[in-house]
Amino acid sequence: MIKEIGIGGAAALMVILLVQGVNVMPLIFLVGILGFLYFFAGSRSATKNFVSAGDRGGSSISFSSIGGQETAKKELMEALDFVRDQKLIHKMGIRPLKGILLIGPPGTGKTLLAKAAANYTQSAFLSTSGSEFVEMYAGVGAQRVRQIFREAVKQAEKLKKSSAVIFIDEIDILGGKRGSHSSHLEYDQTLNQLLVEMDGIDVKDKVKILLIAATNRVDMLDPALIRPGRFDRTVNVDLPDLEGRMQILLLHTKNKPLDPEVDLKAVARDSFGFSGAHLESVANEAAILAMREGSETITSYYFSDAIEKVMMGERLERRPDEEQLWRIAVHETGHALLSEEIRPGSVSSITTTSRGRALGYMRQTPDKESYLYTREYLEGQMAVLLAGSKAEELTLGNRSTGASNDFQQAVKLARQIITSGMSSLGVICMDNVPGKILYESMQELIKSQEARVEETLQKYLGIIKDIAGVLVKNEKINGDYLRQQMEAQRKKLNPPA
Ligand code: ATP
Repeated sequence: MIKEIGIGGAAALMVILLVQGVNVMPLIFLVGILGFLYFFAGSRSATKNFVSAGDRGGSSISFSSIGGQETAKKELMEALDFVRDQKLIHKMGIRPLKGILLIGPPGTGKTLLAKAAANYTQSAFLSTSGSEFVEMYAGVGAQRVRQIFREAVKQAEKLKKSSAVIFIDEIDILGGKRGSHSSHLEYDQTLNQLLVEMDGIDVKDKVKILLIAATNRVDMLDPALIRPGRFDRTVNVDLPDLEGRMQILLLHTKNKPLDPEVDLKAVARDSFGFSGAHLESVANEAAILAMREGSETITSYYFSDAIEKVMMGERLERRPDEEQLWRIAVHETGHALLSEEIRPGSVSSITTTSRGRALGYMRQTPDKESYLYTREYLEGQMAVLLAGSKAEELTLGNRSTGASNDFQQAVKLARQIITSGMSSLGVICMDNVPGKILYESMQELIKSQEARVEETLQKYLGIIKDIAGVLVKNEKINGDYLRQQMEAQRKKLNPPA
């Protein structure tokens, strides 16, 4: 209505100016530019950009096609049962559930859960991301919020459904605390509009709208958004545990020719810390590698390679010269010897293949899923990290820059010991500890591990060069080979009586 009055008024003004003999050309030009900008901003929001084509309409994803995440699925389904049973809701006078917030790291299946929710509730599904609402033009974000709610109703009516699920990924971009952005007026208007739309959702609406949003930064959200009556259900979507990883691998290998010798449980064990998206990529990469090498089936060799690829990046074509290769092999052997000494059976493989930013690497198999760490464990990890450069020093007479990342991580672990109150400083507030004392305490922790590493490596000095030699020649050795060599050395040093 306001738009029509505006256009009419502008046309009348033009006519009056024309009659009075004023040159209206610059004015027409200006109106043209403004009109174009308005149309451009509006058309961006129309649908294409903020509702991806594949994500409109109903969803065919069901909860059974999501691996692991049992708790998240259960919590979500419980919340959705309210949406499904509208009659009961009316009878009991329950206000409608307006929003569900999924909290978790990237790639853990939040989008899949939202799609499954739409399927479970027989709803239309629209997906967008917080970043799609960010515009430099004031008011456009708010307009897009209005538009997506309208679009949801339209979609549901077209599909003859009585409800619609709107999924907003990265809600923190759009729903951050008000007043915290530099161009806060635009952000605040967008968020205000979202709050208005959510408040407008009513039990009597012909099309019931449910908002599902995802974020990794719940602390960033404006409190108004997470107060009861808005996003009043939060569901944690964590990285999958061993059983979850196994389920996800099963789902993503269902359509692939697995070799009978493949043990998916072992693959799941090897992929500790991976998200669902990582695991999907492992299954896909393993199949690609098998195809490239002309293999009929996907063997565990391809899975192992795929895990390394997903973890460290693509193999690099460039190969260091002989001298550097030798240093890399010695360095990695040092890490592996300490790892095996501290936790026997922990080394899965050692390689001098360059991938991503690593020139070589040693892979450990986690024996159990740990969420809490003792001082002994952290010190052990520090020793493994420090062992690469120590092996270089003992075998080649000097160190190299290859250890700088190891040192950074070792310092981080030392800091973790101190902040957790496990150092000789006891329980402390880091802000009140003088820098000198902190430095000395870190040095104490690092020096004691360096001494431990040196003592261990001296014991195996005789075999470091042998192992490194095999590594240079074969590019990769497995943990069993290393263990055999270590056992032989131990027998040599302490022959049975
Ligand atoms: P982001 O926060 O980065 O948007 P997300 O949590 O929404 O990530 P999804 O987009 O749902 O993650 O997952 C990406 C892909 O990873 C999926 O298409 C699927 O192939 C795979 N995936 C992730 N989690 C699971 C799971 N639990 N079960 C099966 N596949 C999964």
